[in-house]
Amino acid sequence: SVYTPNPSRYDSMTYNRSGKSGLMLPAVSLGLWHNFGDITPYEQMKQLCFTAFDNGITHFDLANNYGPEPGSAEKNAGRILHEYFSHHRDELIISTKAGFEMWSGPYGDWGSRKYLLASLDQSLERLGLEYVDIFYHHRPDPETPLEETMGALAQAVSSGKALYVGLSNYDGERLEQAKAILDELHVPFVIAQNRYNIFDRTVENNGLKETANRLGKGLITYSPLNQGLLSDRYLDGIPADSRVAHDGRFLNEEAVNRVHDKIVKLNEIAQQRGQTLAEMALAWLMHDGKVTSVLVGASKPQQILDNIAALKNTTFSDKELKAIDEIAK
Ligand code: NDP
Repeated sequence: SVYTPNPSRYDSMTYNRSGKSGLMLPAVSLGLWHNFGDITPYEQMKQLCFTAFDNGITHFDLANNYGPEPGSAEKNAGRILHEYFSHHRDELIISTKAGFEMWSGPYGDWGSRKYLLASLDQSLERLGLEYVDIFYHHRPDPETPLEETMGALAQAVSSGKALYVGLSNYDGERLEQAKAILDELHVPFVIAQNRYNIFDRTVENNGLKETANRLGKGLITYSPLNQGLLSDRYLDGIPADSRVAHDGRFLNEEAVNRVHDKIVKLNEIAQQRGQTLAEMALAWLMHDGKVTSVLVGASKPQQILDNIAALKNTTFSDKELKAIDEIAK
């Protein structure tokens, strides 16, 4: 069981600077939210990681609670990293997060110093790593003072357990407040992680996209395919091996039915462009140069290859952009 990565893995991927930091990220990154829990065969996870890395995807994104069961994605990723990537640790950017419920009681959720630092230690244990490359606060906590949460991120870095920090699901205003505190503490805050896709324009409306760019922070966009809706997956019903059919925790048939007409129309535009719908959806996120990386999930290696192919054409005419906006409304 030896894995020899493709020697030309760096030749075709585009690497974008995360804001004004020193950190470069692949234009397409792989998220381990789904398909890395204990309900997925280990062999499948391995192949996803190999295909990603073989094609220049150097960034794997995790969180404490990814599974199911919560924690199992880190555990499984840790096993893969240990068994196959131990000689490549310095070629990889591994991120994790804390901010959603991870364990019961008052110290396993939100944004206290108590929770964040304990959770990071647990994540490192599961991952079998000495440090993560990026540690995120997973969502803003309206109750905990921002100074406390940012102080915990500062300590994650000063203790050597994280190289950089990121903020996820913040809006523009909070991101800017957090940035001011992190600057005072000299914390290498380099990236915002938010949901963004053709159907979900929240970051355009809550100031996040503008603020991240203005402050010189990277922006990595999660669920860029809206969990697979923005692909050919559900054009003709619900395939048995799809997320809706086999792991409908966060995506169900009703969601498919709601957007089915839109998917069909978007697919026509994609076809006219000579792209799959997934490729077009990712290219759309890249077209204005304000997104550092699109953070995709995948259940099959072929999907990763298709998603990388989005890079071949990220230019849109005004007419195409207008038509996409009109359909997405
Ligand atoms: P996507 O929107 O990319 O959805 C991924 C799913 O789409 C895949 O599992 C697969 O579904 C389908 N798919 C992927 N590529 C293709 C393709 N080329 N053709 C057809 N179908 C395709 O992203 P996710 O919602 O999975 O999120 C990605 C990552 O973002 C997560 O793993 C996580 O790291 C991060 N994230 C962060 C959050 C946060 O709060 N910070 C919240 C949510 C996610 P199928 O299984 O049906 O094949």
